[in-house]
Amino acid sequence: MNEIKCSEKMVFDTKKEAEDSLAVVEYQRGIKLKAYKCKGCKLWHLASSYK
Ligand SMILES: [Zn+2]
Repeated sequence: MNEIKCSEKMVFDTKKEAEDSLAVVEYQRGIKLKAYKCKGCKLWHLASSYK
């Protein structure tokens, strides 16, 4: 396991903030992402979902 630290990821306070950014990043990078609430820091991150 090489989990990225929360501080090295994009962090959002709310689901709405995460989803707003998600749309932008998906568009810019041409990838699909999903927003999820982190169990570690209790904030929201974006995860790529290209599995
Ligand atoms: Zn986190």
